[in-house]
Amino acid sequence: LSQLFRPLDLLGTVYRTVRQGVIDMGAMFDLLDVEAEVVDAPGAQDLAVRDGAVRFEDVRFGYDPDRLILKGIDLDVPAGGTLAVVGPSGAGKSTLARLMYRFYDPTGGRITIDGQDIATVRQASLRAAIGIVPQDTVLFNETIGYNVAYGRKGASADEIHRAASGAAIADFVATLPDGYDTRVGERGLKLSGGEKQRVAIARTLLKNPPILILDEATSALDSRTEAEIQETLERIERGRTTIVIAHRLSTVVHADRIVVLDAGRVVERGTHAELLRRGGIYAEMWARQQAEREEVLAAE
Ligand code: ADP
Ligand code: MG
Repeated sequence: LSQLFRPLDLLGTVYRTVRQGVIDMGAMFDLLDVEAEVVDAPGAQDLAVRDGAVRFEDVRFGYDPDRLILKGIDLDVPAGGTLAVVGPSGAGKSTLARLMYRFYDPTGGRITIDGQDIATVRQASLRAAIGIVPQDTVLFNETIGYNVAYGRKGASADEIHRAASGAAIADFVATLPDGYDTRVGERGLKLSGGEKQRVAIARTLLKNPPILILDEATSALDSRTEAEIQETLERIERGRTTIVIAHRLSTVVHADRIVVLDAGRVVERGTHAELLRRGGIYAEMWARQQAEREEVLAAE
């Protein structure tokens, strides 16, 4: 009998994995035939993105009604600007990304894009406007070309190649005997963490969204690969409203606005220099991470 239940378990696992990884969900819901938690309001309109300004206004949320995870968050990301969100693990950083993509709706407050409450617009239009590069990219057991094209169905071979170039993975693909037709994933070519992140970046470039969320996009990589990917990410952030979620502070030192999230509240805000002078949680995290880095360098 337990045999019978296994496919359902597996479906649940895939669903949770994908949901945590925050990749494009529309097609995934069709694929898995699962019901989305959030549904469009009757008569919902499409989101009209003008320049992509994002605001969180007193946003409250808990996965479980008895346990609030976000306890009144105010954030302001000007059109085309970058906001870095840092803080200890479990602070609620990825939850911010999940709310923006509307896997869930806030229980209080609202999130707006160019003044429109995202809870009132059609989900498909919202998700078309947002690109997310997660910590661990989930690749389909398909070709590299398919995995890149997932960013925008119906892309031409030329567009796929250009996106791959922009993500600095085209040269690698060119060395493969089957090029973009090479199968990847569990049953195909195993890609390194850095190569997988480049596929995710190419996917996002193809989608060309006005709003970008990087959720610890480089934290699973070794420091050299991280530096390489970081450069590519900084290039694709230009001209887009970007929220960079980071645990390693070295990736956010140049951001013009940094917020520190702790236990579901914004506890500090400022630039890197301002936050260091303040001598609070950020300064403490920075000192600790610098010490760790020196240890790693000394060991190398
Ligand atoms: P961060 O990204 O800052 O590490 P998250 O936003 O992922 O933190 O998680 C914040 C809190 O919410 C954690 O306590 C985590 O255990 C909880 N949480 C995350 N996802 C879920 C979920 N799907 N159901 C219940 N609790 C969750
Ligand atoms: Mg997270």
